[in-house]
Amino acid sequence: MGDAAIIDGKAFAEDLRARIADLAARFEETAGRKAGLAVVLVGEDPASQVYVRNKGRQTVACGMESFEHKLPAETSEADLLALVERLNSDPAVDGILVQLPLPAHINEQKVIATINPDKDVDGFHVVNVGRLATGLPGFVPCTPLGCVMLLKDRLGSLSGLDAVVIGRSNIVGKPMAQLLTAESCTVTIAHSRTKNLPEVVRRADIVVAAVGRPEMVKGDWIKPGATVIDVGINRVPSAEEGKSKLVGDVDFASASEVAGAITPVPGGVGPMTIAVLLRNTIVAAHRNAGIALAE
Ligand code: NDP
Repeated sequence: MGDAAIIDGKAFAEDLRARIADLAARFEETAGRKAGLAVVLVGEDPASQVYVRNKGRQTVACGMESFEHKLPAETSEADLLALVERLNSDPAVDGILVQLPLPAHINEQKVIATINPDKDVDGFHVVNVGRLATGLPGFVPCTPLGCVMLLKDRLGSLSGLDAVVIGRSNIVGKPMAQLLTAESCTVTIAHSRTKNLPEVVRRADIVVAAVGRPEMVKGDWIKPGATVIDVGINRVPSAEEGKSKLVGDVDFASASEVAGAITPVPGGVGPMTIAVLLRNTIVAAHRNAGIALAE
């Protein structure tokens, strides 16, 4: 292991959840009800089941109400849309999350478009995407928002720093680039067609890897002292026969020799995602109830 400081996302997320629990308790006192998050899962995808279970558990642990809707894989699009409409008009529900991916016969965009943007705690509705793009208050996707929280905690102001985001997905890469732009970074978005990727990455004070390719970003791509945020979660075979392990999109061993600070996988960005989801939910609850957020 090298000299890089380890950015402890697990500890940061714990802290954040404690602050959310405080806000949730005060919300309950003022509003006379708990803040509520509805999570909808369609089908039996094992990874999604784990996410949904963890989300439910952490929602309750923060003093909020968790409404879980588990629907069979063959649920029709019309039935799912009807459920989303019911949740939209349910005053006990402040945030709605439909776990992706959905079965192939359901149009994800149509489902996301049906969620009331003011309950869209995932920040995927085009209204929230537009709000982020134009600098209006709205809901921001949880993973990139968590990355920015870690970066600001580590570096303070990000103003003027060169940032390279590898990946341009709607849920991570693009919102990440927009958040960094809003923090006055000079942002480059790299993707599968980028030429000379190692050279592009080497310019960066901040590297965010959201690619989905195990250990792709090597230590010699990193500018000495740079801050590296590894969003990737990849399951690969481990040295132990028949076992697997999680690795990021960054080759941690070589990158931590060069970087100033780096998030590990697991224990870096991963734990931030649900914590930020809960944060978005408590913010939604305050807005929906017309109560000022007392921070
Ligand atoms: P997507 O597959 O939607 O996007 C991957 C992006 O990486 C694309 O823009 C693609 O480019 C780019 N890419 C692929 N191969 C290369 C390459 N060889 N060189 C440069 N760029 C490349 O993935 P997501 O954004 O959804 O997720 C990215 C990673 O983050 C995954 O490992 C995922 O598991 C993880 N993740 C982790 C979360 C967490 O909670 N920590 C939450 C969400 C995701 P192009 O557009 O040209 O195809």
